[in-house]
Amino acid sequence: MKKKSGPRILTLDIETLPFEGYFWDIWEQNIGLDMITVEWTILSYAAKWLGEPGMIYEDTLGRGKSKVRDDKRLLKNLHKLLHEADIVIAQNGKRFDIRKINARFLIEGYKPYSPIRVIDTKNEAKRVAAVTSTRLEWLSKYLTDVPKSKHKKFPGFELWLEALKDNPKVRAEVRKYNWRDVVATEKLYLRLRPWIKSHPNLAAYEPGHGPRCPKCKSHRIQWRGYEVTQQSRFRRMQCTDCGGWSREKQTTIEKTARSQLLAN
Ligand SMILES: [Zn+2]
Repeated sequence: MKKKSGPRILTLDIETLPFEGYFWDIWEQNIGLDMITVEWTILSYAAKWLGEPGMIYEDTLGRGKSKVRDDKRLLKNLHKLLHEADIVIAQNGKRFDIRKINARFLIEGYKPYSPIRVIDTKNEAKRVAAVTSTRLEWLSKYLTDVPKSKHKKFPGFELWLEALKDNPKVRAEVRKYNWRDVVATEKLYLRLRPWIKSHPNLAAYEPGHGPRCPKCKSHRIQWRGYEVTQQSRFRRMQCTDCGGWSREKQTTIEKTARSQLLAN
């Protein structure tokens, strides 16, 4: 698949099906590997390209109970999708989604998809602010306009139990829930973006268009003061679109003046 110019930014969220196995008790169990009868699998993924409205969604449902655990076709399409992406946005994606997906790819013998940079909205929210909770439920409530969703028809674990039975009614619910989280995660990312310190430099994906905001590629930037370090001084700018701050790479102090600066 040919890559389009500029960074392709994909927001992604997966749902997995649980392990099945034996256990002797319910508290602080140390479950042996031979007590696992069925390994976890991927149930579904939802994704969205930034700047495009379309929903990308796939699940393992609708093919009968015996196929619910078969995520092979889903993995193939997910691999293509990740291969197209430059940057992936995911809530807890660094710890969960991407690593879980990679585990399935490894087990199924896939070669790596082209390298991606992962922006984890959970980590970024935590880094930027003392938020009450880093769970998507809290973050989307306070930082986005996406309404809260509950599995009303299938509360708690019932959703997964019914998915395992390939109950046709559960499919719409999984899809709704999965897609809602992607929409919330993308909105959360856009809200956090100007605050993110080392955001991938989006302008560097298409260089040569004049100075542009590294966080959102906007040309609407205003030079505002200087960023001063121990040894140097750089022109600073603020983006009037996203509000993010950045600075020039080249110092404004010429060589002789710089050599006169003392260290302490
Ligand atoms: Zn910007």
